[in-house]
Order: sequence, then structure tokens, then C-alpha cells
Amino acid sequence: MDRRDFVRTSTVGLTAAAATAGLAPHPAAATGPVAPAIRRNRAATPIVISDLSGIRYKNGGPESAVERAFRGITEGEDVLDALVAGVNIPERDPTEMGIGYGGLPNADGVVQLDSCCMHGPRRWAGGVAALEGIETPSLVAKAVAELTDHHLLVGAGAQAFARALGFEIEDDLNTEDSRRLWLEWRRRVDPGHWLDPEERLRGQGRAGEETDPDRIKPPGSGSSTGADPDAPRRIRDFADASLEAGLSMVDDGLIPEGSFWGTINCDGINAAGDVCGVTTTSGLSWKIPGRTGDSPILGAGLYVDNDVGAVGSTGRGEANLYNLSSFLAVELMRQGMGPLDAGMATLERIRGNTVEARLLNARGLPNFDVRFFLLAKSGETAGVALYGSGETHYAVCTENGAEERPFEGLLEGSPRD
Ligand code: ASP
Repeated sequence: MDRRDFVRTSTVGLTAAAATAGLAPHPAAATGPVAPAIRRNRAATPIVISDLSGIRYKNGGPESAVERAFRGITEGEDVLDALVAGVNIPERDPTEMGIGYGGLPNADGVVQLDSCCMHGPRRWAGGVAALEGIETPSLVAKAVAELTDHHLLVGAGAQAFARALGFEIEDDLNTEDSRRLWLEWRRRVDPGHWLDPEERLRGQGRAGEETDPDRIKPPGSGSSTGADPDAPRRIRDFADASLEAGLSMVDDGLIPEGSFWGTINCDGINAAGDVCGVTTTSGLSWKIPGRTGDSPILGAGLYVDNDVGAVGSTGRGEANLYNLSSFLAVELMRQGMGPLDAGMATLERIRGNTVEARLLNARGLPNFDVRFFLLAKSGETAGVALYGSGETHYAVCTENGAEERPFEGLLEGSPRD
């Protein structure tokens, strides 16, 4: 039985699974809303789960994100405080190009960050989107939750909120590497006008590039005013050229795939059974300025329910926005699925809803990856990916220390086969 058959079988067996899990089966289990199964907090074995950024980047310090978070959780720190302190490590690490300081910038070369967090026992959440100038958006997201009754602040308003709280605002969160890669992307996306990245760095662009009607440029950039009847075509051309140029940089080994869509999601449970989660990212590299992905949106890039568990994600955010995937996976766990089956069923939903030709590879399958980190209230974890069974890994930290575990993939091969 392949993975897809397995998921189908699992879905059919949902009511049985719910019964096994001690939940009252609901008549609408297959199609409709399900009454929440309230599980009382019970002692749990502490564990933290994240993607590999949570284990590989230490910013020159002694601990990775999962180690820092696990230590905090087991020393009695609030679970969310511990997780956020953990992800602050890769957020501040200039060599991690998918998060915080040094994250790959948007099409205008500006680093715009997204983050959200959810506190299971307190049942509150906060997020920020398109935030500029602050290397630790997760701390701002937590402040939104702690200090306001709002859930999401964006752009200039989010920055002003952070400034008022004393966060340091940097002029530019680019590192030399992220800037250099952005220039290379510009050269690839618009080779007629961006011939030499070094020349551009010295401010010596080619004459006429602003006025050339064939120039491929991000929507909103430049100084033109008034309606441009050709704007839809230009935007479409830009979107296609941008993605193609970005993926060619991944194929050429200039950017790790994990940094093109780079995020850290980190979820944890303490000995009392309290579950929290945080997601933080610079989002899709070279995105249209203002683009917000799934990471700051509750239910898309993160969802936590203290009765059920936590699910977060990395990968093509638009797929999670469309499917509200993290919420879906938590709901499937609520109905009785284990984290592995819930993750697989969610991936299957994404695969089924991916129908546009520009999102499909030669095999008719999604030409992108999406990965989920699932933590059940029981402490059981799973890492699932559309692609990359056994070859790609996620991170966990337990009392035995931090370790990498292989993802379970839904589909064979790679997104661009
Ligand atoms: N999901 C993020 C986004 O689309 C990026 C990522 O996870 O790599 O913004």
C-alpha cells in the first residue's frame, strides 16, 4: 500500500480511530464540523519539535533553538517563553538565510519578516507580518498577544508598536550574503538590465533601465504614476520570471532550498501537558513587497490547541493559506488521528487542491514542497513532507538531547522532477 492509499484508508477509518482514542465518534466526522474533544491536562513527557534550523544554527553560542527551548521548558519556564527564546537564536544568526537577521529579502531588497505564536493553556495568540528592521519578530508577535487584544499587526504599524516597546530598529537586516544573493536574483530575473551585480552595488545601473517598457520589475517599484494598461501582463511576467530565477538559484546550489522558503516553526509540551508554538520567517525569497505568507496567519503556518497539540509548517505558504493546513491537521488529530496520519491527510488535501498548471510539474504533481511538524498532546511527534521521504529531516529535543529524525514523504521524487 503506498502512502496515498494509506491516507485514504486512514480517513475511512477515522471513526474507528476516534473510538480507539477514547473520543465519542461524531456523525459528521467525514464531512462536517466535529465537537471538540476536551482532554484534561495530564502529565506528559516534555519534548520540542522544529525544522532543521532549530538544531543547525547556534549563532556562535552553545545551544540550538530546540536545546534552549527544551532547557527552559524543563526548568519551569513558560512553554511559549522558552520556545521564543529558542527561535531567537536562529533569528539572530546571520548565516540562517530564511529567518530574521540575514533572511533573504523581498523583490525590492528589503527584509520583511512574518511571525506568530500561540499559547495553548492561555488560549491567546499574536502575530506580525511584513515587519521591517527587527531581527526577532517572534518577540514582537508575543508582545502583540501579551499586551493587546489584537492578533495581528502588519507593516509600519507593527514596527511602530515594536519601537514603542523599545525594540531596536535596524536600517537594514541584510547581510553581505543576502544582499549579494538578491543582486544575483535581480540579474537573473532581468538579465537585460542587471548585467553585473558588482556594478549595481556601486550604484552604476545601466542607463535607461527605469524607462525601458520591457523591463521586468516588481509591481509597485519605480516612479510611474497613473494607470498602466499593460500592468497585468507585467505583473504576471514578473511573477513567472521571479520564481524561475529563484528556483534556478536553488538548482545551482546558490541558495539551499530550505532558505528559499525558509522558516522555523518550533512547538513544545511541558511535563504538565501544556502545549505552545511559534513560527518565524523571512518568507518566500524575492516576494512582492507586502506579500505575507502562512507563517503569521493562525491556522495556516501554525495552530495550537492545548487539548489536542500543535502543528506548524514550512514550505510554500500559499498552499497553507488556501487549505488552512495547520488548523486542519490539529482538527484531524482532535478527531482521533495520530500526528503522522493527520500530517499525511493534510498533505493529501494540498495535493488535491493543487490544480493550476503553473503549480504542477511534468508528472502533474505539485512543483513545490510543504512540510509539517506535528506534536500531539500525548507527546507523540511526526514530521511530514510532500516530498523527500527519509532523505530530509526535522529536529526534536528530549531528555536524551537534540536529534534529527527523517520526514515521512507523501510523494516520490522531487518537486521539480
Ligand atoms: N511558509 C513560508 C512562507 O511561505 C516560507 C517557508 O516556510 O519557507 O512565507
